[in-house]
Amino acid sequence: MTMRCLMNCFFGVPTNAMAATRSSSLWGIPFTLNFNNNNNHFSSNSRSLSYISNSTSSPAPRVGFLGIGIMGSPMAHNLLKAGVDLTLWNRTKSKCDPLISLGAKYLSSPEEVAASCDLTFAMLADPHSAIEVACGNHGAANGMALGKGYVDVSTVDVDTSKLISERIKATGALFLEVHSHFPLSNTKCCVIRIHITSQAPVSGSKKPAEDGQLIFLTAGDRNLYETVAPLLDIMGKSKFYLGDVGNGAAMKLVVNMIMGSMMASFSEGLLLSEKVGLDPKVLVEVVSQGAISAPMYSTKGPSMIQSLYPTAFPLKHQQKDLRLALGLAESVSQSTPIAAAANELYKVAKSHGLSDEDFSAVIEALKSKFQQS
Ligand code: NAP
Repeated sequence: MTMRCLMNCFFGVPTNAMAATRSSSLWGIPFTLNFNNNNNHFSSNSRSLSYISNSTSSPAPRVGFLGIGIMGSPMAHNLLKAGVDLTLWNRTKSKCDPLISLGAKYLSSPEEVAASCDLTFAMLADPHSAIEVACGNHGAANGMALGKGYVDVSTVDVDTSKLISERIKATGALFLEVHSHFPLSNTKCCVIRIHITSQAPVSGSKKPAEDGQLIFLTAGDRNLYETVAPLLDIMGKSKFYLGDVGNGAAMKLVVNMIMGSMMASFSEGLLLSEKVGLDPKVLVEVVSQGAISAPMYSTKGPSMIQSLYPTAFPLKHQQKDLRLALGLAESVSQSTPIAAAANELYKVAKSHGLSDEDFSAVIEALKSKFQQS
C-alpha cells in the first residue's frame, strides 16, 4: 500500500478531493503536498490534506520519536496507526513496550534513532530533558546530518528552543519547534461524559492527543514545516506557523500562563463558594452558562469538587510553564503579578507532593490543611 493510500485510508479522504498542490522534496524523496486553503499561517480542518508519494517505489520517510510519556505515547501511536515507519526511544524503555508490540522499532539512544531516521520528533518533559536528549552524550544531534529534520514538541522556553535549534542546524539538518495546545472540541466531549457517568474526567491534552485532535503552534524552518505537515495532521486538527524559532515557545508559554492563572482563580472560587454555604456544583453550572465559561471549568470542576485529579496535564509541568512564562515576561520587563501569584500556589502544591497529579490539584494548596502547615 502506498503512502497515499495509507493517508487517505486513515483520513477517509477520497483521492480526488484535492484543492491545490505544492511539490516538495526532502531526503531525496519527492512528495506532493495537497492543500485546501492557501493561508500561510493557519490551517484548520486539515483532514482533507493528503501526503502523496509521487512514486510507488519511493520509500516512506523513517520517523523517530523520543519521549514516550503522557503525550508522546498517544502521538506516536497515531503515527503508527497511520502506517508510519516508526522508531522509538524513551529513558524508561518499558513505556515503549505497548507500541513495540504494535510494530514500532526501538533503539537504545536518541543518537541511534536520529541516525537511522529521516525525521525525528522529541516530546520531553522540560528544558533540561529536551537539551539532554538533543545535545547530550548520545543525544540526537550526534545522529543528525544534512537532509534530516528534528521536530521538538516539548514545551520549553525561547532560549532552550534556540539553543537546540542552533545545535541541530550546525549538523546541516533542519529544525522546527512545535508546541501542542488544548483544543476546544474534545473538552466539550468530556463534559457530556461527566454528566452521563458522574466519573472523573480525563481532559487536558491527553485525550486530544489520543484522538489526533491537538492544535500545534510551530516555528522554525518553513520547508521542514511544510514537509512534516502531513504528520502533524495525523496527530492534530490544526496548526499555526509563527515564523522564527522561539515564537512557538513564546506563544505556548503565554497561553499556559493564562491557563495556570485561570485554574488558580477557579480553585479559589470553588472553595469560597463552599465556605459561604453555596453548592460548588451549582457554581460550575453558573460559570459554564455565562460569559466567563471555559471548557476547562466544566471538565475539571466536577472532579475537583470530589478531590479527584486524574492526571492529564501534570501539575509539575503547569508550574514549569508558569516559571518559564515569568522568565519570558521579565526578559521584556512586562509586569505579570497574577501569574506570579499563581506560580506560588503551584509551588506550594508541588511541595506537598502533588507534582504528578493533574494541575487541577492546585486547589489542594488552598485548603486549610496546607495553609496552616
Ligand atoms: P510526561 O508524561 O511527564 O513525559 C515526559 C517525558 O520526558 C517522558 O518520556 C520522560 O521519560 C522524559 N524525560 C523526563 N526527564 C528526562 C530526562 N532527564 N532525560 C530523558 N528523558 C526524560 O509529560 P507529558 O505530559 O507527556 O508532557 C511532555 C511535554 O509536553 C511537557 O513539556 C509538557 O509541558 C508538554 N505538554 C503536555 C500536555 C499535557 O496535557 N500532558 C499538553 C501540552 C504540552 P521517562 O518515561 O523515562 O520518565
